[in-house]
Amino acid sequence: MKALVKYESGPGHMEIRDIPRPQPGPEQVLIKIVEAGICGSDLHIYHSDIAIPVRPPVVTGHEFSGIIEEVGEHVSGFKPGDRVVSETAYHYCGQCDFCREGWYNLCVERKTLGYWYNGVFTNYTVVPAGRLHHLPDQVSFTAGAMCEPLACVTHAIEDLCRIVPGDVVLVSGPGSIGLMATQVAKAHGATVILSGTDIDSQRLRTARELGADYAVNIQQEDLTALVMKMTRGYGADVVLECSGSGLAIDSALNLIKKRGWFCQIGLPGKKIDFDIEKICFKELHFAGSLGSRHTSWKKALAFLKSGQISLEQLATHKLPISRWEEAFSLFENKQGIKIMMLPEKE
Ligand SMILES: [Zn+2]
Ligand SMILES: [Zn+2]
Repeated sequence: MKALVKYESGPGHMEIRDIPRPQPGPEQVLIKIVEAGICGSDLHIYHSDIAIPVRPPVVTGHEFSGIIEEVGEHVSGFKPGDRVVSETAYHYCGQCDFCREGWYNLCVERKTLGYWYNGVFTNYTVVPAGRLHHLPDQVSFTAGAMCEPLACVTHAIEDLCRIVPGDVVLVSGPGSIGLMATQVAKAHGATVILSGTDIDSQRLRTARELGADYAVNIQQEDLTALVMKMTRGYGADVVLECSGSGLAIDSALNLIKKRGWFCQIGLPGKKIDFDIEKICFKELHFAGSLGSRHTSWKKALAFLKSGQISLEQLATHKLPISRWEEAFSLFENKQGIKIMMLPEKE
């Protein structure tokens, strides 16, 4: 089967290779991949500028949906033909305090699908049965393939932040994560202002269709005036920062109210400049988020099943894996929103 492989560490070093179909061991399942999404971290793996451990040669990709092809020994609750999605924390120790308290995303031994273990930009992948979730019938494979980023957003908002009905929430950065954060915040009863720039016009339009109360191009509209008007001059109750840009973070620190909740979801990928004193002067709750937990997957799937959150519109492009270079450059150049990759015909 054809697979997109990071074959050596260092920038680049990715190509399509022919590899054998894997076999599921005990407590594992073999999944036929239906759709897979490109994540920002796949680009970081390509450029070799990510802190998460990568073990080349490795099949890349971790966001996917599929159908169980075969189950190994000692697997219960799942059978061939089941529509599934899988948590991407392939390995964690299960014994450290973080694992035992349900925060396996912070386990030092965590090794991820598509980084350390062969991932999903191919036809078949093997994952531990303990990471699987059934994909509800009413949820498409396209939406299912975005369950992982939705789980990350759900983790950030539900575990690390606090939104109560009536809050004014500023979502900074209208990429796929920002568009998911907008919907999760709406589901919590917030009024949502999403901010972007000139290059985001399509994304801002999509945001309005998906229920954002305001989708603001900060190069053309006065974001500060809007936030202050809506909050009687106090500032936003919550900021969900999804861009990772230093300028956006600094501006959001000006727009959040005192004692507000600020959650940093976007990763800058480098050291950035912002005025940390604002966190003190405003007595902010400032949190960073990393990945997702088991509970975030259950909540993300519940959101999809109930129809409260819809993801289909985010999948603007679907390309076969053989066109990965085009797909990666679309993503890198902020064309479209979510770029999906489809397995090659066998
Ligand atoms: Zn991802
Ligand atoms: Zn652990």
